[in-house]
Amino acid sequence: MAELVFFTGTMDSGKSTLALQTDYNYAARGRTGLVFTRHDRAGEARISSRLGLETTAREADAGTDFWELIVAENARGNPVDYLVCDEAQFYSPAQVEQLARLVDEVEVDVFAFGITTDFRTRLFPGSARLLELADRTEVLQVPALCWCGRAATHNARTVDGVMVVEGEQVVVGDTGAVAAVVAYEVLCRRHHMRRMTRAAARQHAAVQEGRLDLA
Ligand SMILES: [Zn+2]
Repeated sequence: MAELVFFTGTMDSGKSTLALQTDYNYAARGRTGLVFTRHDRAGEARISSRLGLETTAREADAGTDFWELIVAENARGNPVDYLVCDEAQFYSPAQVEQLARLVDEVEVDVFAFGITTDFRTRLFPGSARLLELADRTEVLQVPALCWCGRAATHNARTVDGVMVVEGEQVVVGDTGAVAAVVAYEVLCRRHHMRRMTRAAARQHAAVQEGRLDLA
């Protein structure tokens, strides 16, 4: 029986590494798969992990119809056994439904990897649909850690070093003449709620100890 499995965790929990490992393991058993990603940090359609592993992938953009694509591959005599879908939080709910239909009607295994919530702590629409439809959801057990040492459960966005909790869910390229530096940091919920990033905590400590006068 094919399955739709959603592997999730925070940003540094090793999802892309597991996506690469999953593809490797199934390919080594002689199964044929396709690897998809979206907005990968490597720029091109590649899956790259923070440990340095990399593979080419197909870009799943807003117009990708997984159902049409895989049915067409099968019709051409290229049967697809499994899909590895990285950055699945960026897929649309309709695309997640296409994946579920492939599992049920074509017996394609689908392994989706993604974060659940954005920097505002809100579910991505694609992740919400995956949580609703997946046969199984696996929370990755590689613990990403907040600067305080607690398990990091939330993703924070910083703009020019300052944590923000409002803005577009997905930042798409540079739009202004002076591009702000957008970065991400994983935090525990307590420090996400207090907007206390590592840098903010350092500054706070320095002020407390009288080493830095902000006035
Ligand atoms: Zn913390």
